[in-house]
Formats: sequence, C-alpha cells, structure tokens
Amino acid sequence: MRHTNYWRGKFLKEPKNRPGTLCMAPWTHTYLSPQTERRMCCASREPAQNFEQYIDTQAGTGRYEPLTLAQHWNSEHMKSVRRRMMAGETLPECAVCNDKLLNTDVYRTYFDHLFSSKYYGQIWEHTDESGHTRMQPVSWDYRFTNLCNFKCRTCGDMLSSAWETEQRQHGMIDFGNPKNNWMIPEIRGEISKFQDTQIEQEFAEAVEQHRVEEIYWVGGEPLMYEQHWRYMKRIIELGDGPRVYARYNTNLSRVDYRGTNLYTDILGRIRDWQICVSIDGTKEIGEYIRTGLDYDRWLENLSQGIEAMGHRRQIRLDFTLTLPGLFEVDQIQTLARQKGIDILAKVVFSFTPDIIMSPLALPRHILDPWLDELIINSGGAMRDVLSQLKHRPTFEEQWPDQYQQGLAKGKARVLQLERIRKDQFTMRDILSNRPQALEWWNGIDG
Ligand code: SF4
Repeated sequence: MRHTNYWRGKFLKEPKNRPGTLCMAPWTHTYLSPQTERRMCCASREPAQNFEQYIDTQAGTGRYEPLTLAQHWNSEHMKSVRRRMMAGETLPECAVCNDKLLNTDVYRTYFDHLFSSKYYGQIWEHTDESGHTRMQPVSWDYRFTNLCNFKCRTCGDMLSSAWETEQRQHGMIDFGNPKNNWMIPEIRGEISKFQDTQIEQEFAEAVEQHRVEEIYWVGGEPLMYEQHWRYMKRIIELGDGPRVYARYNTNLSRVDYRGTNLYTDILGRIRDWQICVSIDGTKEIGEYIRTGLDYDRWLENLSQGIEAMGHRRQIRLDFTLTLPGLFEVDQIQTLARQKGIDILAKVVFSFTPDIIMSPLALPRHILDPWLDELIINSGGAMRDVLSQLKHRPTFEEQWPDQYQQGLAKGKARVLQLERIRKDQFTMRDILSNRPQALEWWNGIDG
C-alpha cells in the first residue's frame, strides 16, 4: 500500500475487539458511477453529489460539479464514515449490508475476506481521529461510461446507453426532474470530457503505479468498454497479472474484442477471477426481461467460459428475481445444475410502488402460494431469496395509499416500452401462464 507522505491528526488506539460494523471498503475500495458520482461502494446508500442514482438517500444538486478521486477520498463525508465505523456505529449508509436488503451474502463480507488480513491493521496505523487516511484505494469499481448494448427492463438510462438513446428518441426524459440533468447535452459533454481526461488519468496512474489489486468490471456493459481490454492487457504487460483479482458483472454478449479473447488472453493470465453472468430468465422470458439478449449466443459464451474455469466459483449466474422471472426460477436452477455452476440470487430493487417488475407488486394472496410452490423445488441462494420475500412487505402493505396509483404508473410504463420495442411477446403473454396473476394484471388501469 502506498501512502501520501503527510500526517495530520492523532492515532486512535486499535480496540481489543474489531468493531462489528467496520467495513474494509472505505479504506481500500472506490466506486465511480457512469455519471462520475462517487460512493463508498455500489451498495452504499448515500446522498447524491450531483445527480441522484437509484438507491441514493438524498437528491443531488442537479449541477455538474465532479470530484476528483483525491478530493473524494478524504472528503468530510468519507472521513465521517471512517470515524463512525472505527467507533463501532451502525451506519445508515450501509443499510444494504446491515439489513441484508439485497441478499444474504453481503458485500461487507466480501471486502472482509479479500482485505482484512492484509490491511485491517493498517487502518489503525494510518487513519487519524478525524477519519483522514493515508491509505489509498487498491480495489476499483470504475464505471467508465454507461455504454451498454442491452435495455433490460429492470435497468435505466444511467446504466445503459441503449436505454438513454431510447429515452431520447421517444421524448421520455423528464427534464423537470434535476436527477435527469446529466442528460442535458452541455452537461453530457462535460461528463464525457471529465471521463476522458480525469477518470482515465486516475485509473491509468493506478495501473502504471501497480496500485490495482482488485477490479470490479461492471457497466454499462464492461465487455463493451474498450478500457476494459486496454487496461487489462496493460496490467498483464506490466507483470501485475499474478497479483490481480478481477470481478465482472456482465451480460456476456461478447467474449472477444479485436482478436483478444476474454478467457484465454485476459483471465488466464491473472491471479484469479470471478464472473457474475447476468441472466434473469431463459429463452423468450429471459429475452423479454433483458432486451438485447440473444439467449443461444449467450449460452455459447457461457459454455466457453465454463471450459476455461479452474474452479467452481469463477462463474456464477447472477439472477435478479422479477415478476416475470418467477416463471423462470426452475429453469434457471436446471441450467445451473446442468452447467455445474452456482446461482447468486437477489430481488429487483423496489423503493417505490411503481416498480411493477418486482414480485412484491403482487398482492400477498397471489404471491405467497406461488413462492411456496417455488421454494419446495429450490435450494441455496434461490431458496433464501424466495423465503425472504415472504417476510418482506408487499407494495400493498408498504404503501397502502399509493399502491393502486403506483401499479397504474408501472403498468403504463411496461406497455409503453412494449409498444416502443415492438414486442411480439409481452408481459400479458408471460402472465397468462398463471391465471390469477393475469387477472390481477388485467385489473390494473394502465
Ligand atoms: S458495509 Fe456494505 S454498503 Fe457499507 S461500505 Fe461496506 S460494502 Fe458498502
């Protein structure tokens, strides 16, 4: 670990017992969104800086005032996070980990396994009482742009350029909402400029100075980023491959780029890797949920990866449970069994009652019996997620006054997208496999 060579305040004494809520991320990891928002990690719930993202707790300013990594790393906010963690406080910013909001296997544990033995002691040696640290990030989640070739129905313009284009073409952007200001052409230009200069420079420096131990390639779609191929090749060229661990969240629509193969030319030359392959359903339903997916091609790319796999944890199916995806729970598990890989399962985010792609949009009397049927044939993470859903409030229970209105808004959006995308196979077709669910759907004003 390299340090800046100045020192500010007093050391804090390392407590006998490690504070239970202390996470390694604020000392080792850094996250940058495709709009250049900075956070502790992709799961933290923090106030937005400029433009609000989906799990932020407070709107941003609506103006574009990007922070460099140096400004962010020891900002008042980051120092406060570190101080509170060192004092053993339970941080609201970390509710996703504290309360297992997304899945049971929380992100904090990941950082713990990866970095605690090497860096935990350094936290106390190199962080002063203000929370200022001399440690620097060695773990990077830099989302260089929102470039993505898919338009998954659970996603949106911030994470997918294909979504952004569609929104623009159909006049669907609400410029009255400051969170969309990043799509104003002048601001969009400024973001691109900041990405092409500052962000590239920060990451290139980290690569050249051998400060990359872990990279999380997410998007947009990371395998569409030329940066992915360029920087990974450079890391290997510099001889750093054997100390780098790379993680991916990818739609796996491509595994080759200009003569370079992901498995043989990149992953075969680094210490270890892990790919979470996003898939929310097989065949037609999978292709409906994830517009852009060519299921047969995806399966070929997956099979190629399985042949290259050195151990089972290297490739996992990253399944986000949605309402149409309830029909696919068995098929996804069969696929995982056939391929000899595991499933990571989570439920689609739903912080408002119009997220009708969530299973929680269903009323309890339809949802629970369906879950019971699925739980019987499920195991592992899938079973956990399904079981947990039974204990979470449905939208109707959580937002009794806004429920109907939320459903109507959500359905109208689904229908609008189906029209725009000229879908031959629709939500109605999917739900027709379960008459009670179809009746519910038909009863929503949309
Ligand atoms: S506890 Fe969870 S949400 Fe908080 S910084 Fe760590 S990984 Fe991120």
